[in-house]
Amino acid sequence: MNLWNSVLDFLLPRYCKVCGRRLDAGEVHMCVPCFLGMPCLDYDMNGLSPAEKILMTERQVVRAASMMQYDKDSHYRNLLYNMKYYNKPKVGTWLAGIGARRLQSKGFFEGVDCIVPVPLSKRKQRRRGYNQCSFIARGVSGVIGLPVVENAVVRDVEKVRQAGLGKYQRWDNAEGLFRVAEPGVLAGRHILLVDDVMTTGSTLCSMIETIAAAVPDIKISVFTLGIVEV
Ligand SMILES: [Zn+2]
Repeated sequence: MNLWNSVLDFLLPRYCKVCGRRLDAGEVHMCVPCFLGMPCLDYDMNGLSPAEKILMTERQVVRAASMMQYDKDSHYRNLLYNMKYYNKPKVGTWLAGIGARRLQSKGFFEGVDCIVPVPLSKRKQRRRGYNQCSFIARGVSGVIGLPVVENAVVRDVEKVRQAGLGKYQRWDNAEGLFRVAEPGVLAGRHILLVDDVMTTGSTLCSMIETIAAAVPDIKISVFTLGIVEV
């Protein structure tokens, strides 16, 4: 940590996005105790991960994993709130990089050809200014060196209003209809779908079924930052 960063830290203090404590010069997004206490999930190639149990009915799915447990009563949800609602999408890139390194050592990405973020509808993306899943995809791409394919799958309309949904449903509602805009780009490939938080899996299942119906000879793996135990 150089002097300039120390001066910047003094002038513009940064805070832990989990517990709110002021960060030291060498800490990024989280303080060390919060970093070490992250509710990370292990991945075992021989077992069924929580994400795989949810998606096991989709026969195109090869592997699925989530980086951490998501609990609405845990302060760790602040990380994902920052990424999704408070204009800090780079938190997602950073977290995804950590999650991807852990999974890479287990062979999770073997055979994958490219990374496809779950799209937002145009209207929603305009309102938020970004798609958080694209930032997560970039974090994974930075580790495994595979391209991120945007716009091959799009989301056309918003069907369900977010307000009025429960805390978990808000993360995982099936608003919008997926459509494969460029099937040729995905044909014959093993794609890694990337989402922020999986709850019931309904959004991912709907996207997987749409892709499987439109794209010949497709294999799909899934990575999400969080998963809710429901
Ligand atoms: Zn902290």
